[in-house]
Amino acid sequence: MAVNYIYPEYEIIRNNDRCINCRVCEKQCANSVHEYLPDTDKMISDDAKCVNCHRCVALCLTRALKIVKSGNTYRENANWSGKKMDELYRQAESGGVLLSSMGNPEPYPVYFDKILINASQVTNPSIDPLREPMEMRVKLGAKPQIVRRDDSGSIINNLPPQLSLSLPIMFSAMSYGSLSYNAHESLARAAQEFDILYNTGEGGLHEDFYRYSKNTIVQVASGRFGVHPGYLQAAAAIEIKMGQGAKPGIGGHLPGSKIVGDISRTRMIPEGSDAISPAPHHDIYSIEDLRQLVYSLKTASNYQKPIIVKIAAVHNVAAIVSGIARSGADIIALDGFRGGTGAAPARIRDHVGIPIELALASVDKRLRDEGIRDLVSIVAAGSIRSSADIVKAVALGADAVYIGTASLLALGCHLCRSCHTGRCNWGIATQIPELTKRLNPDIGYKRLVNLLSAWEHEIKEMMGGMGINSIEALKGNRLMLRGIGLNEKELEVLGIYHAGE
Ligand code: SF4
Ligand code: SF4
Repeated sequence: MAVNYIYPEYEIIRNNDRCINCRVCEKQCANSVHEYLPDTDKMISDDAKCVNCHRCVALCLTRALKIVKSGNTYRENANWSGKKMDELYRQAESGGVLLSSMGNPEPYPVYFDKILINASQVTNPSIDPLREPMEMRVKLGAKPQIVRRDDSGSIINNLPPQLSLSLPIMFSAMSYGSLSYNAHESLARAAQEFDILYNTGEGGLHEDFYRYSKNTIVQVASGRFGVHPGYLQAAAAIEIKMGQGAKPGIGGHLPGSKIVGDISRTRMIPEGSDAISPAPHHDIYSIEDLRQLVYSLKTASNYQKPIIVKIAAVHNVAAIVSGIARSGADIIALDGFRGGTGAAPARIRDHVGIPIELALASVDKRLRDEGIRDLVSIVAAGSIRSSADIVKAVALGADAVYIGTASLLALGCHLCRSCHTGRCNWGIATQIPELTKRLNPDIGYKRLVNLLSAWEHEIKEMMGGMGINSIEALKGNRLMLRGIGLNEKELEVLGIYHAGE
C-alpha cells in the first residue's frame, strides 16, 4: 500500500452553492488540479497538485473558490518544523536536490522594514513635488576624477559613457527562456516608454527586440549564450554576470526541454540541449582576469558603452567591490540574498549570501573611505518591493536599483514559486504556447508603466517631505534614515543612528 508521507500544502475550498460548473478553473489550471465529473455533475479538486498560484481564484466569476493553508500538521516541534520534515520526506523520496523559485522566503531580518525615513519640520522646509521641480534623472557610469579645461578655459568633456535613466529604477536580468516572449516584450516596451533599461539576462537577445536597443542591457554570463558582436553592439550597456543573489557561488541551468525554437536560436545552442552556465567564468580567477574581460568588451563596443559587473552580495563584498571598481567596470550591480530566480537549489537560495541593505551600506562606505566612490555607480538589487525600499536603498548609497520580482508581480505573478516547473499559469515563466498567450504584452507593459508612475510619485513625495529635490542629493544621505529595533552592530554596518537619536 502506498504511503503518503507528504501532505498537501494547500486546501481548495469550493462553495458548491456558488459553483456553476463552468469548468473555467479546470481549463485554466496547468497543474490539472480541477476536474469535472460528468457522472455526478460536480467539480472536484486535487489539493496535492495545487501550487497556490491563484489563477483559478482570480478567474472564477462566481467567487466560488478559496485556497487556504492546509490544516494538516506534522508532529512538529520547535526544532523540527513542519517545513523541515516535509523537505526531508521529499528528499527521501526523490534522492535529489530541492529546487525552488523566486527569492529567499526564510525569516531573516528585512532591514528595509527596520529603517525609517526623515521628514522636514519647521526649520528646513519640505518641498511640494507638485509645484516644484524634482530631479529624478540619474546617470550611471564612472565619473571623471578631475575636470579638464582647454586653453580657452572651457571644460573638456572627458565623461566616460553613461546610462541615462528617467528615474533610478531598471528591470533586472531575466532571460528569454526563463521568461516568456510576451513577458520580455512587456519589460522592453515599458523600459522604452519610461526611458529606463531592461536586462536580457543570459539568454541572448531575440531579434525582435533589437528595436529596443537604447533601453537594453545585454548580459555576458559564464555560459556566453547568445553572445556575438551584433549582440554587444545592440545594447546600451553590457553586464558581466559574475554572480546572482539568489544562488551565489553556483551556475545556472535551463533544462533542454525549454531550449526550443526561438530560445535555442537566441541562445545559439542546439534544441533540446541543457543550457548550463558554469559556476565560474573559466577565464576569470582574479581582478586582473576580470579587467581583461571588461576591456575586451569595451574594445568590442568601441568604448561607447558602460560595462556593468554584477555580483552576489556575500560576506566580504566591500573588499570585492573595491577590487572590481579598479577593474575598469563603470557600474557594479550588487544582488542581495532575497533576489528572485527562475530556479535555484533551495539550500543555496535560503542559506548563502547576505541582505542587500548591509552589503550596500558597507560597499558605499568602503568606496568613500578609499576615495573611489565616483569611479563606479552602484545598482542595488535583491528584493526591492516598494518605492520606500528604493528611497532607503539610495540613501544607503545606491545610484539606482534593479527590480525583478516586483516587475513580475506587476505582470500578474502570484509568487507561487513554481517557475522551475515551466508551467506558469500566468504566462510569465513558461514557454508552453497555451500559457504564454495568457500574458498580453499590451496589458503587461501598461501595468509596468503604471507601477513605475506610481512609484515615481511616491519617491518624489518622500524626497519632498525630506526637503530634498534630487536623487543625487539623496544618494548616500544616511542622515535621512533611522533604525528601529536594531542592535549597535547592525546600526554600525548600516551607518545610521537609532530612532530617537
Ligand atoms: S471557475 Fe468557479 S464557477 Fe467555474 S467551475 Fe471553477 S469553481 Fe465553479
Ligand atoms: S512567475 Fe509564474 S510560476 Fe513563477 S512564481 Fe510567478 S506565478 Fe508562479
